[in-house]
Amino acid sequence: MLRDPIAVIFPIHGTMLRFFNMYVYYKRDAGRYFSKEEFLNYVEKKTIRTIQKYDMLRYDDTIAVAVSGGKDSVSLLYVLDKIEKKFPTELVIVHVDEGISGYSELSYPIVARHAKKLGYRLYHTSFKDLFGFTIDDVAKYYFEQKVDLEPCSFCGEWRRWALNKLALEAGATVLVTAHTLDDFAQTIMMNILRNALSRLSRLVLSREKTIEGFVPRVHPFVELYEKETALYAHLLELEHNDAPCPYAELSMRWDLRLFLYQQEEKHPGTLYNILRFHQSLLRELPQQKITLKRCQLCGYPTTTDICRAHYLERILRSLKLVSRF
Ligand code: SF4
Repeated sequence: MLRDPIAVIFPIHGTMLRFFNMYVYYKRDAGRYFSKEEFLNYVEKKTIRTIQKYDMLRYDDTIAVAVSGGKDSVSLLYVLDKIEKKFPTELVIVHVDEGISGYSELSYPIVARHAKKLGYRLYHTSFKDLFGFTIDDVAKYYFEQKVDLEPCSFCGEWRRWALNKLALEAGATVLVTAHTLDDFAQTIMMNILRNALSRLSRLVLSREKTIEGFVPRVHPFVELYEKETALYAHLLELEHNDAPCPYAELSMRWDLRLFLYQQEEKHPGTLYNILRFHQSLLRELPQQKITLKRCQLCGYPTTTDICRAHYLERILRSLKLVSRF
C-alpha cells in the first residue's frame, strides 16, 4: 500500500481526516492512513501473512474457530470465512458459556446467528455443565475470600479445556482463537511478573505438534492490534457482544492492559517490541523436554496427575463440601 502523500506532507491526525470521510484509520506505528477498503484489505492480508509465517493452517484442515461473540472472535470468523473459501478446509464454530450474568447470556444467540448466516456447524457447552460451577459462583467465593484466585484464572483454564473438548468432538485438526497482539503482549508480561519462565517458553506462535487428546491451537490475529480487529467488526457492522465482563478489572491482565496502552500511546510499536523480544528469547532458550501424562480424571494431556482445569474444580468442590457443615 502506498503511503498517502498528503499525510506525509501534513501530519494531520487520523480523526480529522476521518471527518472528511477519507480515512478510517491511522496506524501510528507505521505512520499510515487507511481508507475503509484499504483497511479491510490490510486486516485480511495481514491475517493470511501471519498464517503463512507461522505455518498455522494446512490446506485440508477441519478448523474449529473459537467464537465468544466478542468483536475479535466475530472478526476472525468473517476473515477466515473469506480466506478459507479458497481452500478445501472445513470451518466449525465452538463456543463456551462462562455463566457470567449480564454478559454470557448475550453471547450465545449472537454466535448462533452468525453460524446460521454463514452455514457452519456450532458446538457449544457451558462451565456449569462441564464443571458444575459458573464464573459467577467462582466470583462469589472470591469476594467471600474463600479462594484467592480471581475469576479470570478459572475462566481461562476452563475455557482452554472446554474449547479443546469441543474441537475434539467436532473432529477438528486445529483450533483457532482470536488472541490479538495486545493479548499476547499482556500474557508475556504476566509471565515475566510471575517469574513463569517455563510457561513463557511454551508460548509458541507456530502450530504445535499434534499430541493425542490435544487439538493444536493457533492465533492468526497475533500481529494485529485489538483496536484493528475491533474496527474490522465495526466497519462491516458485524453483530457482537459489547457488554464488558464485570470481573475483568480484578485481574492482573487488566492492570497490564492499561499500562501497555499508555506505553503504546507514548511509544508506538511497544506491543510489537514485546512480541519480538519474546521471539528472540525463545531462540536463545534451550529446548525443554516436557513429559506429558494423562489427567486421571479426564485424560487431558498434563504435566501433573490431574489437569489444572480439574484441580481448580476440586478446590471449589471442597469449598462446597465445607460450607455444608
Ligand atoms: Fe472470563 Fe476474565 Fe474474560 Fe471475564 S474477563 S470472560 S472472567 S477471562
